[in-house]
Amino acid sequence: MIRAVLCDLSGVLYVGDRAVPGARDALLSLRAAGVGVKFITNVTRLPRRRIVQQLLRLGFDVDAEDVFTPAIVARSFVTREGLVPHLLIHPNLQEELADLSGSSPNAVLLGDAGHAFTYENLNAAFRILITGAPLLVMGTDRYYREPDGLSLDAGPFAKALSYAAGAPVQVLGKPSPDFFRLAAATLGVDLDQVVMLGDDYEVDVRGALDAGLQAILVRTGKYREGDEFRIGAKGARVCADIGAATDLIL
Ligand SMILES: [Mg+2]
Repeated sequence: MIRAVLCDLSGVLYVGDRAVPGARDALLSLRAAGVGVKFITNVTRLPRRRIVQQLLRLGFDVDAEDVFTPAIVARSFVTREGLVPHLLIHPNLQEELADLSGSSPNAVLLGDAGHAFTYENLNAAFRILITGAPLLVMGTDRYYREPDGLSLDAGPFAKALSYAAGAPVQVLGKPSPDFFRLAAATLGVDLDQVVMLGDDYEVDVRGALDAGLQAILVRTGKYREGDEFRIGAKGARVCADIGAATDLIL
């Protein structure tokens, strides 16, 4: 019995500027059946405010509270740990996190910085990490799907800094089990009654299974032939898209 869905955004609801066919109807069906839905994304190129605007523009009916992002978790984490992070993030995300930074950083907080992943910015982060500061990463995705092809995400840059400074990567977004559990907790149902829908076999699907959730891999977005055999954990199901996944769930 599935009582709630954690739904990835990019590659599941939309690709680039286009809604995945059938995605709007799938959401309506889930909600009509009383299934809780939370959108859980590693997107750190946009603040939550703009993610919601984008979803509304694509015809999806969502509130800010429906969207769970690594920036939300990062804020509570660094506050709780008393950290002052150096931010290696996209300029768009500054409005959500800039107030956390300070003149004497003792951590690095990394997101998908896009064009801000310059040599200078990476090197500034490296110089902090080499002193032993923790490397906090809002998602270890390797790549994501854009209309013109696959594009580098935050993971490869986190890995490069980790390698250079010998600093372990501390993940705050997917696939951190805590991230899935915090998101599931907001829906008020047991973990094993929650299914994660994602197009990333590793970050979405293996991550959710490792956290004790159910998981469905959809063959849209970044899905590549054979990804279901790369999951390496038991229990995942595979569907053509969110519409087929919804039929399976209901
Ligand atoms: Mg995705």
